[in-house]
Amino acid sequence: MANVFTSFIKNLTGQHPTDIDSLIKHTENTQLVCKGCNGEFGKHQLLKSNMICPKCGKYFRMGGKERVKWLADRKSCEFMFDDFESRDFLDFPGYSDKLEKSRKSTGEKDAVVVGTAKLCGNPFAFFVMDSRFMMASMGSVLGEKITSIFEYAEKNNLPVIGFTASGGARMQEGIISLMQMAKVSGAVKRHSTAGNLYITVLTDPTTGGCTASFAMQGDIIIAEPKALVGFAGRRVVEQTTKAKLPDNFQSAEFLLECGFADAIIPREKLRESLADLLEIHKAGGAAV
Ligand SMILES: [Zn+2]
Repeated sequence: MANVFTSFIKNLTGQHPTDIDSLIKHTENTQLVCKGCNGEFGKHQLLKSNMICPKCGKYFRMGGKERVKWLADRKSCEFMFDDFESRDFLDFPGYSDKLEKSRKSTGEKDAVVVGTAKLCGNPFAFFVMDSRFMMASMGSVLGEKITSIFEYAEKNNLPVIGFTASGGARMQEGIISLMQMAKVSGAVKRHSTAGNLYITVLTDPTTGGCTASFAMQGDIIIAEPKALVGFAGRRVVEQTTKAKLPDNFQSAEFLLECGFADAIIPREKLRESLADLLEIHKAGGAAV
């Protein structure tokens, strides 16, 4: 699939620079260690190499706003519903502290950023889940923000690109966290029925209720290489099914083999491929 798109408008990505330079300028050049090869790099060097280890090729996880600035055309991005904030409405032990800690370390109010932007001149709406915030667990605010951006995209006939990453439902919010699957799915369906395109990009790790709902509802499902994508953990599946699972079980590559993903696209080609897809579908209409 990737081969079909990659040459369509490839020259256009060069003509539409991103905000990556300003992102580098405003990011502290902290030293990071690669878990793949123990190599040490400054954050600036990694941002310049698409957050991929220059030595061994391992993918570093990207933050929500970082990902959008890496993807969208310069100064085209508008973040929305940024004031939605999770509350500890069940008085769950330790939840308030965890929220506070994540807010401080990420500078975000919850685990997803949503908004609108342009890619090679084509407008789109987006949601990007941020695994640095409580493993991007799916709570009421995360579900409400994704639902809101789908409703906005439906009203304005915009395609949605969603980057998924999640450890699953946020247990500190009980049944309310599970309800987000149905709520977001309803908004995805209405957006689709109105004839709009939805592309998901599965990033490492995408698991639990996120996989069981909106991550797998894209008209086109793309995965990043070697991303972990699954529902329950490997051991749980093995014990339940009593089956020997393949070594690459729950990897992006296994998903492609089984038909759950349409393409695996390396990060350095992703911008170009997504730009192609928006261009191809800009006359309107979902892919399926
Ligand atoms: Zn490395």
